[in-house]
Amino acid sequence: MALPQYIKVSQGLARPEQHVGEIDPQQLPRLRLELAAPSQALQVTLGLARDRGGNWLRGELHGSLELECSRCEKVFAWPLDANIDLRLVRNDAEAQQVLEEADPYQVEDDRLVVADVVEDEVLLALPMLPRCQQCEQAKADAPEPAPAAKAERPNPFAQLKKS
Ligand SMILES: [Zn+2]
Repeated sequence: MALPQYIKVSQGLARPEQHVGEIDPQQLPRLRLELAAPSQALQVTLGLARDRGGNWLRGELHGSLELECSRCEKVFAWPLDANIDLRLVRNDAEAQQVLEEADPYQVEDDRLVVADVVEDEVLLALPMLPRCQQCEQAKADAPEPAPAAKAERPNPFAQLKKS
């Protein structure tokens, strides 16, 4: 089954189904800025689920993105393997409530725009300082001094507010 452009949340929860398909990363404008060269289609699995904790969007992303190594500037294929596990919320207040235990995702007008969710999640998964295999290996052989500020995964809620 192809990926829909958007998932209607009320319908998706009433009749859960897995959506499986591909998304061209070149079609995602914010992600495209991060790519050093044209990259293969991303494999996407997405589905809604409801449990005692609330409503969730769950799925997986697989792919291979062409990134530029931050050390030697060579373009290399970075393997993407990410899980999507987002608690669906209706507003900021709800998002604040769930923030401790889950990554919130705000739903507007009962719809999830599939490309937006996928793009947000891929951007979160991208390394801050991509390194090709050789440089990764060089680093392992001769560890550099730890950087002053540890690169942390950006808070998805802060990310959400920016857009
Ligand atoms: Zn490198």
